Amino acid sequence: MKFLISIVLFTFLQSCTQNHQPIKTTSMENEAKNNPYYSRTAATKLDISNDEWRKILAPDLYAVAREAATERAFTGKYNEFDEIGDYYCAVCGHHLFRSTSKFSSSCGWPSFFEADKDGVYYKKDSTYGMERVEVLCKRCDSHLGHVFDDGPKPTGLRYCMNSISLEFVPDSQK
Ligand SMILES: [Zn+2]
Repeated sequence: MKFLISIVLFTFLQSCTQNHQPIKTTSMENEAKNNPYYSRTAATKLDISNDEWRKILAPDLYAVAREAATERAFTGKYNEFDEIGDYYCAVCGHHLFRSTSKFSSSCGWPSFFEADKDGVYYKKDSTYGMERVEVLCKRCDSHLGHVFDDGPKPTGLRYCMNSISLEFVPDSQK
């Protein structure tokens, strides 16, 4: 009898362990395994030097996010993309946009009319002889793109973003 109980108990414990295994390994951790600062839940402000980011980020992401380069128009993966879900900072995982604020614009970069107010902040940008407003990630200070006042209602804004600075997560994966 004791033996039987042990077997039942052992089987039960084993099935528990098996059931719990997929929960421990989330896709978030998989994607960010080489980036210790990446988190879709932490809001703590990061203060990481560019020397450190250079070791972590892919060169094309580093150029846009840390040196304010712009990806070529019509080349980004989210330019013509309309799935339902959320957009996070590709550098640190901070929430930036909801897909319901994305609109189809002909400018060649993914465009949104509204950002997560806790996701981004703004800086005046006078480079290249233009007066523009730069959009940056509130958590890691990475460059995301610019915001213009020729967007659709209800805000009239057009957040013109670099696809490479964004990471999309569909609702179906949550
Ligand atoms: Zn960020």
